[in-house]
Amino acid sequence: MNLILMGPPGVGKGTQAEYIERKYWIPRISTGEMFRAAARFGTELGLQAKQLMDVGQLVPDDITNGIMRCRLAERDCAKGFLLDGFPRTIAQAEALDSILAEWNKSLDAVINIEVPDDILIVRNCGRRTCSQCGANFHTQFNPPLVENQCDICEGELQQRSDDVEETVVKKLAIYAEQTKPLTDFYAQRGLLININGNQKLEDVFRDIVRSLEKSTTKEV
Ligand code: ADP
Ligand code: ADP
Ligand code: ZN
Repeated sequence: MNLILMGPPGVGKGTQAEYIERKYWIPRISTGEMFRAAARFGTELGLQAKQLMDVGQLVPDDITNGIMRCRLAERDCAKGFLLDGFPRTIAQAEALDSILAEWNKSLDAVINIEVPDDILIVRNCGRRTCSQCGANFHTQFNPPLVENQCDICEGELQQRSDDVEETVVKKLAIYAEQTKPLTDFYAQRGLLININGNQKLEDVFRDIVRSLEKSTTKEV
């Protein structure tokens, strides 16, 4: 299956992507994770991306499309993929179309998770990520057993530098302006699946699986 997971910052894409990846055995490709990894390694691209991420801006389309073109060429994508956080602009969606067309591939579905903005602010500001294994927690909604410690590997939990309220508000505005129009772009092609993300994690996942099974004719 070739899937896109979209929705505003903090809606639960990363959380659901982990479940989808395990159920369908397709790699999760997160542009945000790729940029954060590049920033940790201190590459030129990473440092440039970090400056933009920290103020809630998007990384330019040509850079983002370039790294996605390389990533989608890797062998693990042959059986399918789950794109988390890409495309985020119409220009990126058009670039994705041409990359897929080159390999005679197409998208099977675009899962769009929706949650009201006031809840998104709380979700982003309380998000904590394990510094060792990347596992995701929330101070209120999904707290670790021991404060600030990962349940899986006991690593220290960290807050992302872009998860402060001022930056989150900016990211939501950019989402509304530049990314939201993609829902019409994909709805017109009959690919869009809207999912209510304002429910428990497992209920969101159940709805995603049900909708995918209904919408894709391929075996899932
Ligand atoms: P969130 O989990 O808040 O939705 P991501 O981890 O997907 O955020 O992305 C973090 C940041 O990385 C974005 O705010 C943006 O600066 C950059 N980024 C990620 N994906 C893209 C993309 N497709 N195009 C441009 N910038 C991106
Ligand atoms: P995104 O990747 O879309 O930015 P995340 O998956 O990182 O979002 O989720 C943002 C925060 O909200 C995390 O701290 C996560 O634990 C929490 N979260 C995700 N889904 C839910 C949910 N259904 N209910 C409550 N909290 C959630
Ligand atoms: Zn961990």
